[in-house]
Amino acid sequence: MTSADFLIVGAGVAGLSAGARLARHGKVVIVEAEEALGYHSSGRSVSFSHYGIGNSAVRGLTAWSRGFFEDPPGDFCATPLSRTVPTLYFATEDSLAALEALEAEIVRFTDATRRIDSPAMSELCPALRTGEGAAVTGILDPTGLKLDSDALLQSFGRAIRATGGEIMHGRRIASIERRAEGWTVRSEKGETWTAPILIDAAGAWADPVAGLAGIRPIGVQPRRRTIIVVDPPAGADFSAWPFTHSAAGDFYMLPEAGQLLASPADEVEDEPCDAAPDEYDVALAADRVEHYCDLKVTRIAHRWAGLRSFVADRVPTAGFDRQAPGFFWLAGQGGYGLQTAPAMAAIAEALITGSAWPEGLAELGVTRDRIEPGRLSAGTGSPPPRP
Ligand SMILES: Cc1cc2nc3c(=O)[nH]c(=O)nc-3n(C[C@H](O)[C@H](O)[C@H](O)COP(=O)(O)OP(=O)(O)OC[C@H]3O[C@@H](n4cnc5c(N)ncnc54)[C@H](O)[C@@H]3O)c2cc1C
Repeated sequence: MTSADFLIVGAGVAGLSAGARLARHGKVVIVEAEEALGYHSSGRSVSFSHYGIGNSAVRGLTAWSRGFFEDPPGDFCATPLSRTVPTLYFATEDSLAALEALEAEIVRFTDATRRIDSPAMSELCPALRTGEGAAVTGILDPTGLKLDSDALLQSFGRAIRATGGEIMHGRRIASIERRAEGWTVRSEKGETWTAPILIDAAGAWADPVAGLAGIRPIGVQPRRRTIIVVDPPAGADFSAWPFTHSAAGDFYMLPEAGQLLASPADEVEDEPCDAAPDEYDVALAADRVEHYCDLKVTRIAHRWAGLRSFVADRVPTAGFDRQAPGFFWLAGQGGYGLQTAPAMAAIAEALITGSAWPEGLAELGVTRDRIEPGRLSAGTGSPPPRP
């Protein structure tokens, strides 16, 4: 049996980022079911940080985390973790109210946004249909960040190992017991690890993992999202196109490494699983491209799906379970687990080590009572509609 100070289930961005902070305070062991880092949600994200998603708590976490991506500490990573890519939110006549509501939220966190008209939108993203029946106005936020998710995950992993921490790949936790010396977890292969603090960062599996310990669920609901890669218009240089997002919340598109990614921004209820794209959602994605853009989807070069897991109020959750001493939830990162990871990891460190709430977070509207699991009643149902 291996002993640690902090035992983490799950080597996605949540477990890795928290592990890197906790490694300063003691021995960290992460137990991960898959062989590769970020095999599930963290490796399937489109890795963007922007204010056009989530509620005010999510925007506060996003704002706090930006500094880490723009100027990571010391020798965290040899290559940049992010690059600036503008974000364009557009509205048709039908979604003008949604754009206004979004603008009111975004300007609380950045004063860099500006309204742009149809010609300006066409200049930025020539494929976007503009004018009557199409995009009529937009907000440009020049502060969007395209994140390098692979560099991020690998660097967190390195930081953990550099302090003697371990990441145990290919070990699926099959049982959890609370004994006098702390939590003991056992893999399907029979290996065991023990620690006084157990952190549940199992993404879509956060509730089932808690269930192994006999702990009541907090209502983590996985929702599937689909991405397709389409051919750009022949001869077009689309590399500088913005991350282009409909205010209605039913489409986005962005250039990525010489390819054009698009999504219908779907949120299909699913079970915790190795998510695969559904044919209907792929067709819907292609249809949205043709609806919002002057692009004909003749070929889908690649497609994938991943799970975005939410609790009822859609605020990421960090904190000790009230009924199970030493059991810490780090779950419900939804569609913003990468862009909020630095803040969530700092919160986990503060709550686990009993140190002060991260400086500046309360001023951004992120307080302990908004984040801790005690706010959630057990076994909550479906999340409310997107704000
Ligand atoms: C298509 C798509 C686009 C997205 N775009 C963005 C974006 O632009 N920006 C952004 O910030 N976020 C985005 N997200 C959301 C982001 O990817 C997630 O919020 C984030 O990855 C969640 O991280 P996690 O560590 O909680 O989960 P995961 O990465 O899923 O990690 C959980 C880990 O726990 C492991 N595990 C589960 N059960 C066990 C067990 N019994 N034993 C051992 N290990 C176990 C799993 O194998 C898994 O590796 C997107 C998600 C998707 C699907």
